[in-house]
Amino acid sequence: MNILFSNHSLTNYRQLLSKSLAFVPTMGALHDGHISLVREAKKSCENVIVSIFVNPLQFNNPEDLKKYPRMIQNDLELLKQAGVDAVFLPSYETIYPPNQEFNIQLSNNSVESVFEGQFRPGHFNGVIQVLHRFFSLIEPDEVYFGQKDLQQCMVVKILIDEYFKHIKFNIVETKREQSGLAMSSRNLRLSKNELQIANQIYQSLLALKNKEVYSQLACEHEIERLNGFGLKTEYLNYVNLPNMVVSSDKNGNQAIVYAGFLGNIRLIDNLLL
Ligand code: AMP
Repeated sequence: MNILFSNHSLTNYRQLLSKSLAFVPTMGALHDGHISLVREAKKSCENVIVSIFVNPLQFNNPEDLKKYPRMIQNDLELLKQAGVDAVFLPSYETIYPPNQEFNIQLSNNSVESVFEGQFRPGHFNGVIQVLHRFFSLIEPDEVYFGQKDLQQCMVVKILIDEYFKHIKFNIVETKREQSGLAMSSRNLRLSKNELQIANQIYQSLLALKNKEVYSQLACEHEIERLNGFGLKTEYLNYVNLPNMVVSSDKNGNQAIVYAGFLGNIRLIDNLLL
């Protein structure tokens, strides 16, 4: 497995490849959710490159950035076992050279400002900058993203449509613990008791998925139930995709999206309907 730190080594690696390349961006502290992206990528591309980079630009909360789990040796072992060809481990300066400006904007920016965009101002702007940089440096044929970050997928789709039309965009379904809890690097920071509470999020999503009629009232009811366990829900809504507009239309392309805090840990999840 090639471990690449610089743009120079990345360029050398890229130039030697003659077959298709899939790219899986991550922030490390890898779990089976990340590895499922690698597995899917390997099904359609000969080569898979994974990046591990905790991107400061997408953290609106400095404490969250500081406490974000970092376990690089373990990550490299998992990626090696998964059969990844190359890992890109850039420094901050490699991604954001001091003499360059990073201000990529999407002309279709409606999806960026709601839900995650509203509760984490600047988050998607940071995601767009880092991905634009990665896609330009790596020049992948395909990219793989997790449905776990559903709104991110909608934003990345726009980024690709507007700047990288030649890249094939793939969404991989959310990997869950047996309890139903969506796997997340941030789960490492939850206590045993908090994990039990976090499991309730999936139960609420399922309950809302199974409603005969979708309604905001049903969401309010589930928010009350979750907050009763100690969660501080930011949003729980039926939305229409890809625009992430609140909608109870059962015939549309719908999802239910959730975000909330358990102590200092922010959790998100969703179900496609
Ligand atoms: P992160 O390291 O959290 O930035 O995630 C890197 C990629 O892995 C993103 O595309 C995520 O959506 C995806 N991912 C994270 N958790 C899961 C999961 N439980 N199932 C599937 N994909 C995931």
